[in-house]
Amino acid sequence: MASEQTLCLIKPDAVKAGNIGHIITLIENNDFTIRKLKMLEMNREIAEKFYSVHKGKHFYENLVEFMTSGPIVAIVLDRDNAIAGFRELAGSTDSWKAAEGTIRHLYGTDNQENAVHGSDSPESFEYEHGVIFESCNCH
Ligand code: ATP
Ligand code: MG
Repeated sequence: MASEQTLCLIKPDAVKAGNIGHIITLIENNDFTIRKLKMLEMNREIAEKFYSVHKGKHFYENLVEFMTSGPIVAIVLDRDNAIAGFRELAGSTDSWKAAEGTIRHLYGTDNQENAVHGSDSPESFEYEHGVIFESCNCH
């Protein structure tokens, strides 16, 4: 299978808890190559743009608040089957349901504070990469 890229965000909960290194180690141990990496703080405008697909959902307001609550780390990853592969490594959205060994099982708290984000399709990756690495000058 051809190499593919995905966007991982290490969310504010995991940054605050001191888990950047642990998460990057898991990523590297699962054969992803890091292509880009930056630490930034999302402002409301960027968080709303990034999560525009969720606008109107019951968790949207809390999600935007959470994602603007502290610094995050944005990482572009490259691997065969990177999109599905990273979502498998991340585990279920709800950290309580995430399988043993997954990032959310190890470092997530609940279904909002779940340590990482992973793109869910090539189109999402293109959009999210644009928001974080092209249109955003947050730092
Ligand atoms: P992500 O997009 O962060 O990789 P995901 O694709 O597993 O996660 P989505 O359905 O895209 O989940 O939801 C985006 C984010 O919104 C979740 O990661 C989580 O932080 C938050 N979220 C989703 N569902 C809920 C919910 N029911 N209650 C609270 N927060 C939620
Ligand atoms: Mg998602």
